[in-house]
Amino acid sequence: MKIAIWGMKEWEQEYVKSALGKDGGGSAEIIFYDGILKTETLPTENDFDIISIFVDSTVNKATLDHFPNLKGVVTRSTGYDHLDVKECQVRNIIASYIPSYGENTVAEFAFALILALSRKVYSAVDNFRETGKYSFEGLQGFDLMGKTIGVIGTGRIGKYAIKIAKGFDMKVVAYDAFPNEAMSKELGFTYLPFEEVLKASDVVTIHVPLLPETEHMFNEKTFPLMKKGAILVNTSRGAVVKTESLVEALQSGHLSGAGLDVIEEEGVLKDEMGFVLHGSPQGHNIKTMIANHVLSDMPNVLLTPHAAFNTKEALIRILDTTIENIKGIVSNTPINVIKSK
Ligand code: NAD
Repeated sequence: MKIAIWGMKEWEQEYVKSALGKDGGGSAEIIFYDGILKTETLPTENDFDIISIFVDSTVNKATLDHFPNLKGVVTRSTGYDHLDVKECQVRNIIASYIPSYGENTVAEFAFALILALSRKVYSAVDNFRETGKYSFEGLQGFDLMGKTIGVIGTGRIGKYAIKIAKGFDMKVVAYDAFPNEAMSKELGFTYLPFEEVLKASDVVTIHVPLLPETEHMFNEKTFPLMKKGAILVNTSRGAVVKTESLVEALQSGHLSGAGLDVIEEEGVLKDEMGFVLHGSPQGHNIKTMIANHVLSDMPNVLLTPHAAFNTKEALIRILDTTIENIKGIVSNTPINVIKSK
């Protein structure tokens, strides 16, 4: 069995090798590649049975064509919009993912962004560092207690966000395409239609997956429905929010801030030099790429590099599930298989 893995740190490689590799008494031959798997930089070696990637890689028809022996694609993430799952199915290639590795991890990060915005934490640190002036001038924030938070998507992560919000004594309203009434009773929150959640909320936090139905759910028509002065936090997927419309909502002052751990065209943002040297504008939105830089310059916007998953505890859980997913494919008893919609 030959396995290729992209983007693992050295300690992660050792962890996986000791569980799966020849070094650890297992039978797999594992090759680790730095960086990401993308069509522009496919490796010359291509006789792998299994490949494992993270959200920044892309698995599409061209990638699958390149690996003729492929039996499985294992993504080390909860979201899988970077994989062509249908194409994997057509080719009888198993695509597996990490359904859950600590829903608290991402929800905690969403609140790190919410608090950083509501209390202007970043500006406070930055002002002192830049000016040397020890002053709270211009740094007035607002209490979370008593405010309304709108949770968009009440799955694993959304549920944790609701629990945390309750701890802050916030009023919680939520929207989900498949409401969980038992959970709403248990945790004490109210489901409302999407538009009503936007109208009612001082803070909106997004926890839906990226699907055709959720793509650009936040756009020039829906942003104006949000409360004036509200803040938006997105830790789900960049394309749930239409970037240009977000810039407009912030620039006009309709929104008072945004915390974005994910953003459209974040793949390019991660390697702009690579894009300039090897990339093609085809399939990319140059205006969005420029909008990302405009956003990063706005003082009321916090951009983080898709880091919400990144805690020590979560990474170990991701690695353990990845190892089990690979073993499942090797032993013909796959687990955590992604079903195409
Ligand atoms: P989940 O599947 O448990 O929950 C998703 C929720 O969205 C479900 O309740 C579902 O009913 C709802 N939903 C689906 N389609 C909808 C629609 N059209 N409209 C409204 N609601 C809809 O997923 P999760 O574990 O809570 O993760 C949510 C997303 O968070 C993932 O899909 C992933 O994209 C993202 N994520 C980001 C990071 C990060 O590091 N930033 C880490 C993990 C996950």
